[in-house]
Amino acid sequence: MIEAKGLMVFYENMIALNNVSLRCGDKKIVGIFGANSAGKSTLMYTLSGVILDIQRKEEMRGGERVTVFSEINYDGEEISKLKPHERAGRGMILCPERRRIFAESSVLENLKIGAYLATKKEARETLRYIFSLFPTLERLKDRQGGFLSGGEQQMLAIGRALMAQPRLLLLDEPLLGLAPSIQKDVIRAIKEIQRDRGISIIVTEQYARPVFPVVDYAYILENGSAVMEGEGEELMNNPDVKSAYFGV
Ligand code: ATP
Repeated sequence: MIEAKGLMVFYENMIALNNVSLRCGDKKIVGIFGANSAGKSTLMYTLSGVILDIQRKEEMRGGERVTVFSEINYDGEEISKLKPHERAGRGMILCPERRRIFAESSVLENLKIGAYLATKKEARETLRYIFSLFPTLERLKDRQGGFLSGGEQQMLAIGRALMAQPRLLLLDEPLLGLAPSIQKDVIRAIKEIQRDRGISIIVTEQYARPVFPVVDYAYILENGSAVMEGEGEELMNNPDVKSAYFGV
């Protein structure tokens, strides 16, 4: 469904992505794992096209020079020149790191904002699905986003992304700052979204262990380079990966 080749991103002269190639098949879950600053968010921005906005904004305000080389084939179409909203219109939806929900708006309003690409019927049906996936959100539907816990905000961010009718969901560090019990709920939801909705998912995380069991394929990112890749289990049992990412 998506194949990216030779992605390169420079912030001025600093290389943030160095010749990264990856694929994610139809209805698959692909994990991207790497430490702080490995380039995970930059990779998500490059796939979703947000990097082009960052590049343009920096250019307009005379800031740093952002250089991007990318070749991205999505469902048989070369999309690397497409704007983020054009990619979103084709079903590539980014759920950014740190959630970015609207603090002043209620849970329901936040979800409805996500439905800008959906028909009324799709929005109604997706809302029902989100409430079955995260019953907490239904209970809190009138609460302001800013009053939610970190875990509830993450559920809301995922819900909002689902409202946009993704075919490929890009989840940037969804477990960041969450307690282990809440992490489990989010991981279960990721698996269910793939299974129930047939959505492909690319998920980044710093810590691989909690996510490995649900990924079909994984890449390890180090200093902007994809240094290892493989099926979830196979990679998890690789001694190099174990020592680097599981501390054993
Ligand atoms: P984190 O887990 O901290 O979010 P990450 O793996 O998502 O890290 P990126 O945010 O993609 O990593 O950053 C990769 C590198 O690029 C880092 O060294 C970071 O400091 C740098 N970087 C990211 N955004 C910019 C920017 N707008 N300008 C300059 N450097 C940047």
